[in-house]
Parts: sequence; structure tokens; C-alpha cells
Amino acid sequence: MNQELVVYKQLGLAHIQKDQFAPSFQCYIENFESLTKYKACSCFEKVSAYGLCQLCYFYARQGLHENMMKPETVLLPDAQRISDFEELLNFLVKTVFGFQTAHENQKQAIEAYMAGKHTFVIMPTGSGKSLCFWASAILSPKLTIVFEPLIALIQDQMVSSSWKHDFTLIQCRLFITYNFQAKLVTAGIPCGCMYASSTQGKSVQEKVLQEIAMGLTRVLFTTPEKLQKSLAFRQFLHQIYEERGIQFVVDEAHCIIDYKHFR
Ligand SMILES: [Zn+2]
Repeated sequence: MNQELVVYKQLGLAHIQKDQFAPSFQCYIENFESLTKYKACSCFEKVSAYGLCQLCYFYARQGLHENMMKPETVLLPDAQRISDFEELLNFLVKTVFGFQTAHENQKQAIEAYMAGKHTFVIMPTGSGKSLCFWASAILSPKLTIVFEPLIALIQDQMVSSSWKHDFTLIQCRLFITYNFQAKLVTAGIPCGCMYASSTQGKSVQEKVLQEIAMGLTRVLFTTPEKLQKSLAFRQFLHQIYEERGIQFVVDEAHCIIDYKHFR
């Protein structure tokens, strides 16, 4: 493992051992302060007699140990690996997100994406596009990186102080993105954000990197600009790619198609 990755991982694990670990997404965890004893297992409340959080319990039951922060944790006596993909997906969306089943078009998109195909999803707003990457992020051992072009636009506007029209639209979109993070964390899925250093403090960024290095983070939201401008971030991700693999998602892809003109 690369030395830099080892350092971030050790820092994070040392904080957990000293009971001083607070994840970057703690604001979305209800009663976080009262959950201190659960921090070692993904910071979430334990839901099973085996001392696992909901997500780890799902992984352990499905034999998806490579997706867990601590793969060595447990072999459950009641583990029942579902081999049929559709059945597994339905089990996932029901147990983790509380939906009855995944729709046929969601299933097709997730299956294609998980098979390593470039997948383009067009669906009306509110029809469940995001579930496609949520489910893929849970089922894959890789880190899922989601590009949010609209966040990049907001940052640009903040930096250039040309903050004027479309304010409401931008605010709504921003809310949607933060809501993604809130929804995922509420469902027990650790995820982080990495934006320009001008809008996110260095200590928060360090924490996010530690969480990724420890294998805690399943979904990372970022901007095209952050990847383009930060060499250190790119190098870090390169190490993660070598070790764990990365899969990319472009949210709001209609903005990307016409990116230059969009600004
Ligand atoms: Zn866990």
C-alpha cells in the first residue's frame, strides 16, 4: 500500500481507537453524541446481535465481506448469499432504502454499470435515477465518485462574486445534492464531499481523506474542477484506484454535455 494512504489510514484508525473519531458526515447522524460506542463500525447504530451496523450486516449476510470497512469481522451463521441479481437488488433496496422493489429500468442500469459498461441513464426527475448509483455503490467494493457539476458552478459564482440570477434554482439544486448525502447517511451509508479548498476547510478535507483511506467511505461527491485543479487529490485517488478500484458517476449529465455554455 502506498505510504501516503497508510498515513491517512493510521490517523483515522488512531482516532477511532482513542474514541475521538467524528466522521465528516456526523451532522446527518441523529443523536451522534450518544452513539460514541458505535464509532468503530462505520459510525452508525448497531442493528444486529453481531455488533454490526445495518450496511455491514447486509454485507455479512450476503457474503460481500470485501465491501466492509473491516472485512475480517464476522461470518454470520445465518448468511444467505442471494445469487440472483434481481433478487439481491430487491433485497437491498428494501432493507437499506425501504423501497418495495427496484424498477426494471433501474435494474437494467445498475446491472450494466456493475458489469463495467459506460451507462447513460435518462429518466424524468423524481423517477429514481439516484438509486442507480446508490445501489451500485453498495454492491461494489469500489469507491464511487459522483461528480456534481452544479456545485462547481456555485463555487465559481462564489469565487467570482458574480452571484446574481438563477439563485433560487442553484439553491434548490444545492439542496438536492446535500440531501443526497443526508439520505445516504440516514440509510447508514458513509459518504463524503470534496470541494475546492476555498469552500471547504482543510481539516474537513483531511478527515474525508482519512475516511476514504480507512475504507469507510462508499460514495464521494466532488466537482470536475476539484479533480482537475488538485494534483494531490488526483494522486490520492490514483492510490485508491490501485488498491480498491473506483467507479465514476456524473450527476446532472445534461450540464456536462454543454458545460462551457452552461456557465
Ligand atoms: Zn458497519
